[in-house]
This record gives sequence, C-alpha cells and structure tokens, in this order.
Amino acid sequence: MAEVTPCTACGAELQGRKSLFEYKGVPLWLCERCAALPLSQRFDMLKPLIRTIDREAKERAAAAARVAYREDITEEQIEPLLLHAFLDLIQERKAAGKRELVATMETIATWLSERTTLPVKAQHVQYLTLALRDGLIIDVGGGGIGRPNSYDTTEAKMGIEAFWDQVDAFLIVWKMPNRKSLLEA
Ligand SMILES: [Zn+2]
Repeated sequence: MAEVTPCTACGAELQGRKSLFEYKGVPLWLCERCAALPLSQRFDMLKPLIRTIDREAKERAAAAARVAYREDITEEQIEPLLLHAFLDLIQERKAAGKRELVATMETIATWLSERTTLPVKAQHVQYLTLALRDGLIIDVGGGGIGRPNSYDTTEAKMGIEAFWDQVDAFLIVWKMPNRKSLLEA
C-alpha cells in the first residue's frame, strides 16, 4: 500500500491532484482545496509550520558556525609553545653534531605538531620562521628551489643573554596570524 501524504495545511488525506512546493528544502503538500485558497489564507494555515522550519534552519546555521575550541591551551600560549619547540629542534640537531636544522616546512610542521599537540601546517612554519628571521632570532639559509631551508639560531652570534632578551621581546610583540584556528577542537 502506498504511503498516504496528508495536506500540510489542513491535514486532509491527499487525493487526486496535489500541489507541492518547497520551503527551505522542506516539501509542503497541499490538497486541492487548500491549493485553491487565496495566498494570504494559505500562508496563515502554514504559518506555524513555516515558523518551525525557520527556527530549525536558524539552529542548524548556528550549530555550523559554532566551532569548538580546546581549553587546555590558551591563545597566549601558542607563540611561546611554537617558538620553544622550534628552537629545541635546532638545539637537538646541533647537540647531535649537525651545523644547523635542515628540513622542509612540511617536515618541521609535523615535528612541531607532535611536540605541541597543535595542528601545525607548513603555512604556520613559514609565518614562524619569517617572523623569527625578521626578529633576528634565527638565520635562514636558502636551500634553493625544491630544497629545504637551513635554520640556525643567532645565539652564538649575539651571546646567550642578548639572544634570550631578544626572544622575550619577540614573544611580547609577535602573534601567529589566525592563531585561534590552532585551538579548534
Ligand atoms: Zn488541505
């Protein structure tokens, strides 16, 4: 037996010709009698339903716009976390006897993600390393097209104290662009 569709306006069982229209993706069926009513009268009958559809559409839009952010890390912690994790990477390379850190931004992004638990992308590494270079905290050697860059701190050049003063000053002023996106849960 075929499913019986009631008229959305009056609830009468639909027979014969029926009129279908859609409101915000919800199909509304009208019986012949209701479909023949003047528009304002039809609207009055459908008003409660249209209000419900409007409210539900609004709630869906609000839910989509509501992004959850993790709370174990604050926005202000993002820059020191990334900076120290990056400097640690360089230090570890040097402790292992390498002259500097040589890696692609994608690889560095993966390492920083593992160390900070933040979803670091190559773009973030680019922002970070450019800012650190401009802040005189690292020297960046060009690897050439398709080759990874090399990174070294300016600690030896500046002296330990001046270097860490520079790091402190850097952290006061620098913010990762769109940093809140790094806290999306
Ligand atoms: Zn009807």
